[in-house]
Amino acid sequence: MGDPKGFLNLKRVTVEYRPVCERVKDYKHVVALRTDSKSQEQASRCMDCGTPFCHWACPIGNYIPEWNDLVFHGHWVQALELLAVTNNLPEVTGRVCSALCEYSCVLGINDDPVTCRENELSIVEYGFKNKLIVFRAHKKRTGKTVAVIGSGPSGLAAADQLNQAGHKVMVFERDEKIGGILRFGIPDFKLEKNILDRRVNIWEQEGIVFKPGINAGKDYPAQKLLEKFDAVVLCGGSRMPRDLKIEGRNLAGIHFAMDYLMQSNRRVNGEKFSSDKLIDAKDKRLPADERGSWFGFYHSRGHGDHCRRISASGTFRLAGRS
Ligand code: SF4
Repeated sequence: MGDPKGFLNLKRVTVEYRPVCERVKDYKHVVALRTDSKSQEQASRCMDCGTPFCHWACPIGNYIPEWNDLVFHGHWVQALELLAVTNNLPEVTGRVCSALCEYSCVLGINDDPVTCRENELSIVEYGFKNKLIVFRAHKKRTGKTVAVIGSGPSGLAAADQLNQAGHKVMVFERDEKIGGILRFGIPDFKLEKNILDRRVNIWEQEGIVFKPGINAGKDYPAQKLLEKFDAVVLCGGSRMPRDLKIEGRNLAGIHFAMDYLMQSNRRVNGEKFSSDKLIDAKDKRLPADERGSWFGFYHSRGHGDHCRRISASGTFRLAGRS
């Protein structure tokens, strides 16, 4: 614990947003990156608890108190190394994770929690800014080949781990670009796609072969996969929505959230859709399910925010679900 009184002397400072007048003109990231010195200050609020519930709550088990301490002391390189032990894509989780760590932060019991997610983002962006995250040449290859099916977060993490272990990895993706839900499910204003491309480019240099536009099992037969590779890792996502069998379900204007988001992301990327295929929330009032993804235009902040950013005239929530 770097500063025993950090949490007493400093208040939590949350994210800073780009000026509204600027960000309404584009779909770029709305949050401005924090300065390194601000991150060091905020990291000093970590109490380095004996039982770090943040670490326990983090789905990938990040060593949060440890890297907070390293950041506070300005040991950015060590913090980056420690972060890389548990996280293949901190630049993504640092931007879009729901930060269960912060909900579990002990300081949050009687004060505002430590800004763990932003600290995580600061570490990885420090790494990119200072060219510390570059491709690593492999000293030894195992001679084994692995096919990874799906290039969402799990597929990419698996590919990176397997590649680091020395196996020859090929990632199959049915969409035209790599990233799965990271590319097509998350709006650019939360996760710009150049962030994803930056990491994928490094992995390509490290030897991972990406095969977008190939639906494994259909375009590339399963039998061939089994013959050509020593192992196959299935990392497909779930694009199958849960439907709701209620009266009025078939009325016009009711869409699954992912259909809407995927099309919106493609449109932001310059793709055009004919009017009969277009799902456009502009000037519409939008009901939304509170938790599920099977009804209305959105089920999470991503969908709601996106609808607001394209000037939907209002969103309101359905109270519950059967
Ligand atoms: S924000 Fe980072 S440290 Fe917190 S729960 Fe998510 S991945 Fe873990």
